[in-house]
Amino acid sequence: MRTEDHLAAFGRDGGELVVAGIPLGRLAARVGSTPFFAYDRAAITARVGEVRTALPDRVGLGYAVKANPMPAVVQHLSGLVDSLDVASAGELAVALDTGHDASRISFAGPGKTDAELRRAVAAGVIVEVESRTEMQRLVRTGKELAVLPRAAIRVNPAFAVKGSGMRMGGGPQQFGVDAELVPALLGEVSPADVDVLGFHVFAGSQNLRADILVEAQARTVELVLELSEHLHDEARYVNLGGGFGIPYFEKDERLDLAHVGERLGALLDEQLVDRLPEAEVCLELGRYLVGESGVYVTRVVDVKESRGEAYAVVDGGMHHQLAASGNFGQVIRRNYPMALGNRLGDTGSETDAGPVTVVGCLCTPLDLLGDHVELPRPEVDDLVVIFQAGAYGLTASPTAFLGHDAPVEVLL
Ligand SMILES: *Cc1c(COP(=O)(O)O)cnc(C)c1O
Repeated sequence: MRTEDHLAAFGRDGGELVVAGIPLGRLAARVGSTPFFAYDRAAITARVGEVRTALPDRVGLGYAVKANPMPAVVQHLSGLVDSLDVASAGELAVALDTGHDASRISFAGPGKTDAELRRAVAAGVIVEVESRTEMQRLVRTGKELAVLPRAAIRVNPAFAVKGSGMRMGGGPQQFGVDAELVPALLGEVSPADVDVLGFHVFAGSQNLRADILVEAQARTVELVLELSEHLHDEARYVNLGGGFGIPYFEKDERLDLAHVGERLGALLDEQLVDRLPEAEVCLELGRYLVGESGVYVTRVVDVKESRGEAYAVVDGGMHHQLAASGNFGQVIRRNYPMALGNRLGDTGSETDAGPVTVVGCLCTPLDLLGDHVELPRPEVDDLVVIFQAGAYGLTASPTAFLGHDAPVEVLL
């Protein structure tokens, strides 16, 4: 997808980017300082609507809070989705504060501490158990609190999902219980000690290939059907994960959501509904729901030329938006889409045309935000906007590195 397509998703007023109806200069004044993250509430709502339209009615939609845990964002999403998935006690507290029904909050992630398990069991959320020893600790916690823990087993499938930006299943993993060990684990636990509702399989993130997601869902359903025979009760919970990707780079094409939804509908009708009639099937999406709703806005503090190359130094950087620097799990560094948000359509004069390298203000060569980007030649105080900043931005970045102030986040 090209930068123009990202721009079009927001809108413009003359030469200015418009975010949620507010021209960028006015927005920057309202926020009061740069850099900042701005998330568009209407864009999130619209995205949830698109997903709901594409998915079969019987599939519940969950939000994976770690993609963007800003409390206002989670509050907004709480009213739009069926469930919230958290990955720490901190995220659990944010999710509970929204007033979301605790029985529709799930807690995944390796390394849950006893204190976290205690809070989760007391709250009544579904604990997605990642190992045999975690199951034992969960049972013990339930006994201590005299509360029957609600659990699902997170399964590490034998298959891997190709094409994922981050692989979290298949082969040896810190995530989940290996599929072949699940029957024995289920044989060890008593329904009097823990209510095992079903299974959770999440095998990868940032996938743009509908055919691969469809295949992963089919294999997941097959696996869940097999494992369900080992449950004491009928499966009531089947979390198929997610992994839906968004386009960051020019070569990226949008995920064919309609295709994924259609095939999932057929899969459930043909394979699952008759055999697991009690099961609530859900998907949990993070990035796909919020990633495209956000921009990261920085101000140019210096411009310089070094041996023939133009540089713009901005007041933000990898300490706020690590992913844009290419250091958040990427194998090959590519530029995130970006624009001079106060000078859209400005093509510059003939003399100063040519690519610009946009760097952050950290004293490390890693702090590269845009490598040879086609932009009008930046001037001090111009606003460099980085798109696709609504997921895995601020909270996925090393904010303490170099001791700069934290940026503001606003939900518009
Ligand atoms: C991170 C995570 C997600 C969300 O992944 P996205 O790629 O952002 O959709 C979903 N489920 C679990 C268990 C996760 O750890």
